[in-house]
Parts: sequence; C-alpha cells; structure tokens
Amino acid sequence: MESSEIDAAEHADTEELVPKKGAVSVVWKFFGFKKSDVYQTSILCKCCRAKVVFGGGNTSNLLHHLSRKHVVEYQECMKLRSAPSTSAGNTGKAKEKSSQMTLRDAFARGTAYDKKSKRWVEITNSITIHIAKDMVPLSTVEKGRLHEDDPHAGS
Ligand SMILES: [Zn+2]
Repeated sequence: MESSEIDAAEHADTEELVPKKGAVSVVWKFFGFKKSDVYQTSILCKCCRAKVVFGGGNTSNLLHHLSRKHVVEYQECMKLRSAPSTSAGNTGKAKEKSSQMTLRDAFARGTAYDKKSKRWVEITNSITIHIAKDMVPLSTVEKGRLHEDDPHAGS
C-alpha cells in the first residue's frame, strides 16, 4: 500500500490560486498559479496543489496529471473540451429547415394562381422577403422556377 498522496502534505499552503493569464484551454480550469507568482512559472493543481511541470507549451502534461490523479476532473475536462465552443451556426439550422418547408408549400400552392392575381404577387413577395431575410441561396428558387416555363402559366 503506497499512499504517497500529496493532498494532506501541502495542506498548510492555502494561498489562493489564480488562473493563467490569457488561458484558452479548459484544462486551466483545474490549474492555477499562486498570486505571488506574478510571472506564472509554477503551475499548481487546484485539486491537490501539486506542482505540475508544463512541458513544451502544450497542456498535455496538465491533462496527464488529471488523468492520473483526478479521474473525475479529467473526465469533466474531457467533456468540456468536446463540448461545442461558442461558435454560432447551429442556431439557424432548425429554423431554416422549417421555413424551407413553407417555401415549398408556397410553390405548390402558387401553381394554381394566375400570375396577375393579387394572390400570386403576395406569394412572390413573401418568397422574396423570405430570401432576403433568411439568405436562402437563390438556387432554391431556381429549382422551383415558379413554373415560368410552364406554357399554361401567363399568356
Ligand atoms: Zn492534482
């Protein structure tokens, strides 16, 4: 039984740890520096306050420490790393899909209307607004063609 864990040993050292300046990796959530360490040279584990060697400017040593000593924190860290960061882009997806259904609907219904009718203009306008507002690629409309090639439409 080897219980050379450090936690109790350094219990007296309770100086607050501060996060790394300009840190981007989530791994720094679990490590910090003493406030007195203004140049941030000694990385300390927030869990056990062990000093961790920061090799080569990457965070693999820190992750290694977590994976060896603090499995729960390591797993949390991994979860945070895999979580989607603040990249916009998946917010509009669902909305776009539903509005394209509406667009297709409009096409389907639009075929029955005369081009000169008020209804047709309304539909066309709403499609134009839809394109302008939601930035739907124009090819979406071209595919539908609004049945302009249909000899029965118009005169
Ligand atoms: Zn630790």
